[in-house]
Amino acid sequence: MCDAPLAVMTVAELRARGFGYPWVRTALHWGAITRVRRGLYARPWACRDLLLATAHGGTLACVSAARHLGLWVLDDATEVHVWLPSRHCYKHDGCECIEHWDDGRSGVGTMAPPVRQILRQILHCRGVEEFFVVLESALRQRRADAADLRWLRRHTNAAAREAIDLARQRMPTAASSPSFAGASATSA
Ligand SMILES: [Zn+2]
Ligand SMILES: [Zn+2]
Ligand SMILES: [Zn+2]
Repeated sequence: MCDAPLAVMTVAELRARGFGYPWVRTALHWGAITRVRRGLYARPWACRDLLLATAHGGTLACVSAARHLGLWVLDDATEVHVWLPSRHCYKHDGCECIEHWDDGRSGVGTMAPPVRQILRQILHCRGVEEFFVVLESALRQRRADAADLRWLRRHTNAAAREAIDLARQRMPTAASSPSFAGASATSA
């Protein structure tokens, strides 16, 4: 997991935390931050994938976001999956980005999407096997709960619902507990 908080911040995110232009200017001068692109700054602990995704104009998505959060991922390709707020993106060095535009981008700025949205991105981009592996990992780490499973059931397909049932069965504790029972209530 390389989710050091606020490793990359927009000017708006900095300002909301009380870091105005004088701070940015001094921090740049001292090397406490570097400029990713106009209006976007990185702390020294920002990981490669986050730097590339934000340089591209979005934030981490799909398997890149899952890996960044410390979830188990099968995919070990170097391409970075980027969640873009619009069709607009930026060219940058070493760009091999895979773009995602699915809606519901509530996390403004550089925050990764919610885990359930990451899971849906993985389903459509990488297929149901990868979806299952990451879902199991999310349940095991308690980063997905019954409400997330219900949302996924409503917003995915039959193959995903089968994977959700299988992942729940294989969970000895949390996900098979009564509080998760409602997750299968909307089974189609
Ligand atoms: Zn993807
Ligand atoms: Zn990372
Ligand atoms: Zn790129």
